Amino acid sequence: MSEVLDIAKKDGRWIECKKCSEIILTKKLEENLWVCNHCDHHFRLSAKDRIRITCDEGSFVELGMDEQDDEGAPEEAILCGKAAIEGQECYLGIMDFSHKGGSMGIAVGQKIVKIMKTARESRLPLILFSTSGGVRIQEGIWGLFQMLRTVHARDQIEHSPVITVFTDPTTGGVSASFSALGDILLSEPRARIGFAGPRVIQSTVQCTLPPGFQDAETLLANGFIDRIVHRRDLRSTLSSLLKWF
Ligand SMILES: [Zn+2]
Repeated sequence: MSEVLDIAKKDGRWIECKKCSEIILTKKLEENLWVCNHCDHHFRLSAKDRIRITCDEGSFVELGMDEQDDEGAPEEAILCGKAAIEGQECYLGIMDFSHKGGSMGIAVGQKIVKIMKTARESRLPLILFSTSGGVRIQEGIWGLFQMLRTVHARDQIEHSPVITVFTDPTTGGVSASFSALGDILLSEPRARIGFAGPRVIQSTVQCTLPPGFQDAETLLANGFIDRIVHRRDLRSTLSSLLKWF
């Protein structure tokens, strides 16, 4: 039986839910916005899928960097652009965990600064979907500098709102910099949001961590985030928030 399942999974028509191990038809999963209909597990999304389920069809226009960077710019762990959500215009920065664990290096920092500057100048709201393992440690101190840079750029935005949507997982230097500085902090259910991982913390402090440690639900109960929004309600929630501004 497991061999049959392996073959089914390999051809891409079926996917196993990593939380409840249910085998789900990929097409059904896609229709359900990549949420398991057995256990409600929210699968990680690529930036492109995120755009597809969040923005009005065909409204997303990627923000170019400088002219010479436009052609052949390498794919990065964030996709930035302008779009409409139920007719409301906004800027979006969407991180992608599948690209080097969503890590923030110089190029990602550059894109975040650019989208923040553009949103500030046009006075349009900015929505940031965060997912990251943290700073891109291969870039050493230059990676760490991106925390400072993005926080500084965020501080310059005064007349338009910044909305962060935490998705699973948002950790390290990304959770500890610009992403936590939204005016409104939303999260998908059960997303892990924290700095160091639970194993590192547990071995450092030498005690057992409480259940729900670093879960969005725990952070909501402790006042760190404003609301947990199910993926099916995210588009309408964002659009109603955008109507305020
Ligand atoms: Zn499941």
